[in-house]
Amino acid sequence: MSLNVVELTSQLVAIPSETPTTNSAVSDFLEKVLVQAGFAVERLSYIDPNGEEKVNLVGKKGSGSGGLGLFSHSDTVPGDAGWDPFTPVVQEGKLYGRGSCDMKGPLAASIVAASRFDAAQLTKPLFIAVTSDEENGHIGSYFIVAESKLLTGGWPAYCVVCEPSELLPVYAHKGGTRIVVTAHGVAAHTSTDKGESANFKIAPFLAEMSDLAKVFRTDKRFQNDEFSPPTNGFNLVLNDGGAPINVTAGKTVATLGLRAMPNAAFAEAIQMVVERARAHNLEVEVAGRSISHFYVSPDSPAVQAACRATGAARAVTVPYGTEAVTYQPYMQSVVLGPGSIAQAHTVGEWIDIAQLEEAVEVYSRLIEDLCTK
Ligand SMILES: [Zn+2]
Repeated sequence: MSLNVVELTSQLVAIPSETPTTNSAVSDFLEKVLVQAGFAVERLSYIDPNGEEKVNLVGKKGSGSGGLGLFSHSDTVPGDAGWDPFTPVVQEGKLYGRGSCDMKGPLAASIVAASRFDAAQLTKPLFIAVTSDEENGHIGSYFIVAESKLLTGGWPAYCVVCEPSELLPVYAHKGGTRIVVTAHGVAAHTSTDKGESANFKIAPFLAEMSDLAKVFRTDKRFQNDEFSPPTNGFNLVLNDGGAPINVTAGKTVATLGLRAMPNAAFAEAIQMVVERARAHNLEVEVAGRSISHFYVSPDSPAVQAACRATGAARAVTVPYGTEAVTYQPYMQSVVLGPGSIAQAHTVGEWIDIAQLEEAVEVYSRLIEDLCTK
């Protein structure tokens, strides 16, 4: 079969799959395309808390052990107003539409490359995985690593997360977590003097967080110079429910954000916040699944294969997160895809067509290198 990457990307863009809604329609379409491209396809669904069906696909072609997996997601951020997000437009070397860059374009490039290889040519298996809910805490990726029989029955040796990286191999990215600190007071009209302000209760803790922010910005122990910027992005936002000036705040919630990097005392930084909150008798909770960083050696075999396929002299780090975090315990992983992350989630999202077409060649070289020799 012969697939065209611009055409396939356009077809995917035209089937809306915004994260809050079901992605079953685009998954139906993808399943057919993968089957036509010679893949055995496993369809893995769950119903999300809003009752929407979320579909994940894992395809495998060829037999044997090891091999390569190309990993993408089929959900996109919402279309947004101000443009026509689900009508793909090709203009002056760019393909416009929601998901063109993040990441239906990269997904299409991986499928087109995979379709070029017959099972008989493959000495090691080739996998394509397409998850749901990536834009919602990477839920689909955690689901497939637990539930996919094709993957758990014999993990590919190598994993390429096809997120947009302008076709530069990425060996590390930051992760992050949230810490929620709550002070409880008593709401009352200030004329009664019966209130107890949650804001006054949390204030000493906030002053300490302000000092801690200075420590994180200056103490090299909390930084990693492989990243730009090298700091952990410590941030604080507050919500006291908008108490009017004549009422004491009944509850104040401080949410603190921290970006994770390797070798930057991330766990210790979290612990410092948690301990200070406890010392002030405040309620504290570290967000359920903190998204860890991704880090492999720039000399690791997957990164080196990506450098060979792209001709890049060396791999880079990026400040945004991907599902490589989920996959790195199981496979040699690298992030590599066409398009710029600057385009992701924007009104008027686009991908450079020349880069999209180049990605097909890059993924083809990777498949040849890792699955046919
Ligand atoms: Zn993405």
